[in-house]
Amino acid sequence: MSNKKILILPGDGIGNEVMSEVLKIIDWMAKTRSMTFDITERLVGGTAYDKEGDSISDETMQIALDSDAVLFGAVGGSKWDNVERDKRPEAALLRLRKDLDLFANLRPAVVLDALAGASSLKLDLVKGLDILIVRELTSGVYFGQPRGISKINDTESKAIDTQVYTTSEIDRVSRVAFDLAKVRRNKVSSAEKSNVMETGLFWRKTVTELHKKEYSSVDLEHILADNCAMQLVRYPKQFDVILTDNLFGDLLSDTAAMLTGSLGMLPSAALGPVNENGTRAAMYEPVHGSAPDIAGQSKANPLAMIMSFAMMLKYSFDMHEDSKLVEKAVQNVLLKGLRTADIKDGAEKIISTQEMGNAVIQELKILTGN
Ligand code: NAD
Repeated sequence: MSNKKILILPGDGIGNEVMSEVLKIIDWMAKTRSMTFDITERLVGGTAYDKEGDSISDETMQIALDSDAVLFGAVGGSKWDNVERDKRPEAALLRLRKDLDLFANLRPAVVLDALAGASSLKLDLVKGLDILIVRELTSGVYFGQPRGISKINDTESKAIDTQVYTTSEIDRVSRVAFDLAKVRRNKVSSAEKSNVMETGLFWRKTVTELHKKEYSSVDLEHILADNCAMQLVRYPKQFDVILTDNLFGDLLSDTAAMLTGSLGMLPSAALGPVNENGTRAAMYEPVHGSAPDIAGQSKANPLAMIMSFAMMLKYSFDMHEDSKLVEKAVQNVLLKGLRTADIKDGAEKIISTQEMGNAVIQELKILTGN
């Protein structure tokens, strides 16, 4: 079997620091596990703009298209604030999402036992929490036309955004949610605003029809997006998979994220359509940004990046055992009280980015005897 091709895009700021810790794990896996990867590393974001004149070059984009999966660090920083919009660091992220057609964004919100005290909610509400938000990522109000600001007369102007969804756009992201629910706790909560929006009504009808035709074995509930936000902070454990559109997903996934306590712990995946050969484009990245305030100080928590790699093993390569192994190593490190500054909770020992990466490797060695 040929090696899986991974494109590594560390990006700017702490993106580089946290990615280095994943590369150590990939190295360890190559030496001790059955699978080795073909790794290509390229510039992205502001660093790429400085060296290559664009936040992602056509050549890098082509490598992304030819890869089995992309692992992305973070981009951005005030240094590039005045760069033209289409060459800004963030433009690279949008191009990757668009050109790879990454329509399904998976954001798990998992509260690890060792960190349950770091949540802003009471311990018993979040202990053991494991929910997954599936957000539509390439359509809806962030992309719909017409959009723009125009003049009505000398004193009045208006701004327009358009929320638009087609049947196939809703179907494909719903399939991802239903399929994932089947291997979890078998429940999908579909969130929209069918009480006040045409797209909400259409979303509900389309999800219902697909469910009836292909996924009737999965429990489906419909929930208004505002109620979903409220329920997330009232009793989050009622949810398994939350399926929602681009706009509501943006808000609900950030709400769910904060239940877990820290930005430095949150991985994500973005998946494209399944090709004829059964594979799909995919990109994995931590939820956090380039954190210019701590960049270069070895303070960044690499665990969100490492957990993003674990998601890659699971969702792109079906390496479920290896994925669980990495997750278990992370949990064990935290159970031993090792913490980067962002997840400091009481008297635990504060360690650097590199020490945290090394601690995860150490745990992997203990868990596997290698
Ligand atoms: P941020 O996520 O970079 O940082 C927010 C806060 O969280 C900061 O105080 C930071 O120090 C802390 N933090 C973030 N990740 C951490 C980690 N792994 N360990 C420890 N602490 C961590 O968000 P921001 O400050 O709003 O944005 C900074 C830059 O990142 C901006 O240019 C923004 O556009 C960009 N950004 C990029 C992405 C991405 O690449 N996907 C996402 C969000 C923001």
